[in-house]
Amino acid sequence: MTRYSRKKGNHGYTAKRKQLKIKRRTRDLDEIDKDLEPKSAENLLNQPVDIDLPGCAQFYCLHCARYFIDNHSMQQHFRTKVHKRRLKALELKPYSVEEAEAAAGIGTYVAPTKRKMETQKPLEMESTIPMDADAPVKKKK
Ligand SMILES: [Zn+2]
Repeated sequence: MTRYSRKKGNHGYTAKRKQLKIKRRTRDLDEIDKDLEPKSAENLLNQPVDIDLPGCAQFYCLHCARYFIDNHSMQQHFRTKVHKRRLKALELKPYSVEEAEAAAGIGTYVAPTKRKMETQKPLEMESTIPMDADAPVKKKK
């Protein structure tokens, strides 16, 4: 048996790497910032059913601009590092033109404001399944 370590990733194979980079590309933070405005947030969270999108576009994480297949996986996502990191990143307002001008001596400098980021509230499901349906059933030994 020959021993060798298998290369992981796509080192040196840039075409593939670029392809993956584009594929995994989501919305930019400043785009998401616009999405977070109550008006557009409302639209994004109440999207029409689209069968081409995961979960028919009914489970969407605003902050990460990602679709989930069901409520459960969305709730799981809210607990992940990726999501929490994203919330942290969105706490600071994105770099704006005014800020750039202020730094150049035009206008007044307004320090970027920190704001509280909160995960969207869990969906209110019109559940057909009673809530205690998946409660653990005690087994007798
Ligand atoms: Zn998220």
